[in-house]
Amino acid sequence: MRKTLLFGVMIMIIMSQASNSFAADAANPRGARGGRGAGRGAGMNMGRGMGMGRGNGAPQQRGPSEEEIQKMEEAMPTKAVVEPKKPRKLLVIDILGQGAFNHTCIPYWNKTLEIMGEKTGAFTAVVSSDINMFSAENLKEFDAVCLNNSVSLPLSPDKTPELCKALMDFIKGGKGIMAIHAGTDAFYTGAYIWPEASEMLGGKFSGHPWTDNGRDQWAVKIDEPDNPLMVPFKGEGFKLYDEIYRTDPPLYQREKQLVLMSLDMSDETTKGARGQKPTDEDTGISWIKNWGEGRVFYCSLGHNHAVTWTAPILEHYLRGIQFALGDLEVDATPKPLKPAATEN
Ligand SMILES: [Zn+2]
Repeated sequence: MRKTLLFGVMIMIIMSQASNSFAADAANPRGARGGRGAGRGAGMNMGRGMGMGRGNGAPQQRGPSEEEIQKMEEAMPTKAVVEPKKPRKLLVIDILGQGAFNHTCIPYWNKTLEIMGEKTGAFTAVVSSDINMFSAENLKEFDAVCLNNSVSLPLSPDKTPELCKALMDFIKGGKGIMAIHAGTDAFYTGAYIWPEASEMLGGKFSGHPWTDNGRDQWAVKIDEPDNPLMVPFKGEGFKLYDEIYRTDPPLYQREKQLVLMSLDMSDETTKGARGQKPTDEDTGISWIKNWGEGRVFYCSLGHNHAVTWTAPILEHYLRGIQFALGDLEVDATPKPLKPAATEN
């Protein structure tokens, strides 16, 4: 306990010294990259992800350790951003379709969302690996759905028309959906293709030149510093160890969603990641949009387990979740990258 208090104090000191970065995971066992000396430009100092596997059904991996859970709890916001209008329930889906990539961060995010809900009172997280939770009857009790790195969901209008209709009606009718990291890989792989859902999310996965290789930190720029979801970053870009998911146009485009942060291609390392395409110049990391009467929130950060104990990113997620749940009012009007000719 004493040790964790010390870490807390260290984080506060580091945060007060660093203007364009914030240290995370001060307790990182590989702390050499940050810790006390982490100052300007050092970026987020995060631990490394674990091994990967492939799954079918519910993910089965080792969850966070007691020590890691403690770090999540310490980094977690202490209260809701806004008081929920009523008790909220978030359905957290972690299903992996046949042969789907099995992210080891899945149990980390399940735990993170449980803690977030409990600690802030903003919502109750209900974790499920059952596709039938998307029935109209089951969705009734929820305010939003969260795709926790769900890949290749067994959902498509031709094979599961009722579930697809129920989920789409749920969102269009005024509820919310959010996706973490690989959630953009949920609706189009394998035998199940659901284009409308990919369009709703605002993108589908198409590779990740920016890998969690433990060597390179990727630079993130804040596109909407004044947006309520971006308050935790104080208008300052940052760097972090993580894997950044790419979503190609035309599904991803700034005309269709409000992009809150994106890769900073003025950074040499980020610009230089291998396997890039010209359209990667604009790679959105986090965005919101309206869909019918409902709301959509996506953030690609979180492959690296240490993201789940990185305070500003957790605060960003909390805000995104409260937007999706319908409690945090945010103008999600898209802003095209290039100003219209009539401006200026
Ligand atoms: Zn990943």
